[in-house]
Amino acid sequence: MTIIDGKAVSAAVKEEIKSETAKLKEKGITVGLAVILVGDDPASKIYVANKKKACEDLGFVSEEYLLPENTKTSELLELINVLNNEKSINGILCQLPLPKQIDEQTVINAISPLKDVDAFHPSNVGKIMIDDYDFVPCTPAGIMEMLKYYNIEISGKNCVVIGRSNIVGKPMSMLLLHQNGTVTTCHSRTKDLSEYTRKADILVSAVGKANFVTADMVKDGAVVIDVGMNRENGKLCGDVVFDEVSKKASFITPVPGGVGPMTIAMLMKNTLTAAKKQNNI
Ligand code: NAP
Repeated sequence: MTIIDGKAVSAAVKEEIKSETAKLKEKGITVGLAVILVGDDPASKIYVANKKKACEDLGFVSEEYLLPENTKTSELLELINVLNNEKSINGILCQLPLPKQIDEQTVINAISPLKDVDAFHPSNVGKIMIDDYDFVPCTPAGIMEMLKYYNIEISGKNCVVIGRSNIVGKPMSMLLLHQNGTVTTCHSRTKDLSEYTRKADILVSAVGKANFVTADMVKDGAVVIDVGMNRENGKLCGDVVFDEVSKKASFITPVPGGVGPMTIAMLMKNTLTAAKKQNNI
């Protein structure tokens, strides 16, 4: 059994981004990311701080916009409009979730698809569907990068994704399908979930429930990717019961240190792609 090392893979991805960013700088091109945070959700604050640090490490310009909890949709749209037209900003990320008075989809729709480094805009979502895209949502993109790094074959494999959210489950299923996996997407209404998971050569769990995937649900030799980020007794854990499932898996991601570190790396990769596209490179 091999533990997939998300920290090592993300470090390799970031190293590549750093060297490309330095080369762009020599041509007078900087890479800029604007991060918008509305309100003071503690988890969101940590994510935003981590993104800022990653930008600094890679030589990106990062701008942070911290807006109060009672911000109106119109005020946020005004800021997005300014950033859409700001040449030095290549990527715009609005940290979700937003306070309840703000309509999330309206905000997502307002970000220019060319600067939509989260790949949540309907135009980018549609492009993923037809396998002709520049940006992929960061978590599924990071998982694909890890599978590639470990030379894990997808073509012809039974791939089971538990979860169908717009940011993880659905794009994950689509990316595996594009690599010729035979994909089943399961969700809370799936009957006899383990009937499906036991057939999976590659099992991705994106549910958000601790101890959800147990050894009896997993086929011998399966590749198990744990997207879950849950807190149990104050400790971060995934969806998978690591100790027992790791005894059956051929490859498995730990939590922490698996999928998590990849997400930020792929956000940075999308931002670099945006900068290159906007400068016709
Ligand atoms: P989400 O929007 O809450 O989606 C959860 C999915 O799990 C839904 O599709 C839901 O089905 C399904 N589900 C819930 N209970 C189930 C059950 N008993 N059996 C089968 N399916 C069930 O969550 P998300 O945004 O996709 O995130 C999922 C997890 O990944 C969370 O723990 C989140 O924190 C974590 N996450 C981690 C990263 C990272 O970088 N590591 C990034 C993003 C998310 P229905 O659609 O039927 O409700």
